[in-house]
Amino acid sequence: MKAFVFFMSACLFAGAAFAADTPSKSYDAIKAFLGKVPAIDTHDHLWRWDELPGWREAEDGTKVMNLASIWQNSYLSWFNAVPGWRPREKFADWWQRAKPGFADVRAMSVYRHTLPALQDLYGVDFEAADDAQIAALNDRITANYRDQRWLYEVITERANIEVMLNDPYWEPFDFGCHYGFVANVLRLNPLFRGFHPSEFAVTKGGRKESPYDFAKAKGIRVESFDDYLAFVERVFVLAKEAGMVGLKHTLAYQRTLDFAKATKEQAVEAFGKERKDLKPEQVKAFEDFMMWHLCELSAKHALPFQIHTGHARIQGSNPMLLVDLIAANPQTTFVLFHGGFPWVGESGAIAARMPNVYLDSVWLPTLSQTMAKRAFHEWLDVLPSTRILWGADCNHAEGIYGATEFTRRVLAEVLAERVDRGDLRMEDAEHIGRQILRENALRVFPGLKAKLWRDKQAKMTPP
Ligand SMILES: [Zn+2]
Repeated sequence: MKAFVFFMSACLFAGAAFAADTPSKSYDAIKAFLGKVPAIDTHDHLWRWDELPGWREAEDGTKVMNLASIWQNSYLSWFNAVPGWRPREKFADWWQRAKPGFADVRAMSVYRHTLPALQDLYGVDFEAADDAQIAALNDRITANYRDQRWLYEVITERANIEVMLNDPYWEPFDFGCHYGFVANVLRLNPLFRGFHPSEFAVTKGGRKESPYDFAKAKGIRVESFDDYLAFVERVFVLAKEAGMVGLKHTLAYQRTLDFAKATKEQAVEAFGKERKDLKPEQVKAFEDFMMWHLCELSAKHALPFQIHTGHARIQGSNPMLLVDLIAANPQTTFVLFHGGFPWVGESGAIAARMPNVYLDSVWLPTLSQTMAKRAFHEWLDVLPSTRILWGADCNHAEGIYGATEFTRRVLAEVLAERVDRGDLRMEDAEHIGRQILRENALRVFPGLKAKLWRDKQAKMTPP
């Protein structure tokens, strides 16, 4: 109990103090070991350098990344704690507006996961810094983002990520790879709405996601539902040829994960009609049919299927809703994202019963350090250590560093607790840590091996 109290107080301090204050005998050694494992990060949203969502208009009119970019593009912004940057505003003015917002979120993981980046990359204790130190931090962030080498350095060296899987949801049919350390996954969301081209008439936030535009560009005719299915399979082939290593969908943000077994006739009935002419159950039947079909294509083309589960719409995102679909598709590799937060125990039970399921802790430590720790403990109890993955899920270097560091800390705590109580040998703890941070992703996504670069070059730099 005493050790637990110590640990909780250690948690309240970010950065260097963390490890030193942790009483565990093994924590420091395991944490250091995990830091040296070249990680494979299974999920981020890294836009092209010129299009990073963080760019802001500085006081002098130049395009910059700054402290506002970092916080507004962190998940803290979901809680409205960070006010928007006004174009050409003085940094000091933004900071005076922003500062009070941090008071009520100090204990939240979505806030705390950014602190290691500010501490380790900039040497700044964000909670103790005065206004002048915060202004200096802001200037240094801006200076670093004058050159994309910063992004490469933070991700590949400081966070020690060798390869990152990227989900380009803003342009899912751009099969280009814009960073040397990135492998893309094919974002499937638009294919579920492909019953009519009008679904893509309105571009949301500059997104280029129409499969019909892509078909046109490739000279593929899509007039019947059979044409559509042939086109979808062609997309899989082209994606694989372009080096994509997996599939992803986030339908849990829009609908239930209960995908019923719909007939092809039901899908044909909806195809070619605008949404306004369809009943909601007809739209659902089309999506349901596509999901089952895409699971078959996933198996056929050996592209593992990453699925967002939990914490989207809370109604309908429980991973238990996927169980019948998973059971009926034993040849498909399913990667359940976010540990199904908050249903981490359910995710563990699903994976324990279904050998084609992998659990990805991506985003989980950022949402809740406590639940991530519980998840790793429970999953290691019920699953072989080959079945657990991790990812950062961010769109800028500092967020990726922070999420990676948080994952390494939580994993080190879990493994160290077991070593300290005599339930795991140190060498086995290291073996498990290396599997979760790296080896498992390489096995689950066979296409990733072609992306490894550390054995060929010491450093990854922009082209
Ligand atoms: Zn994501």
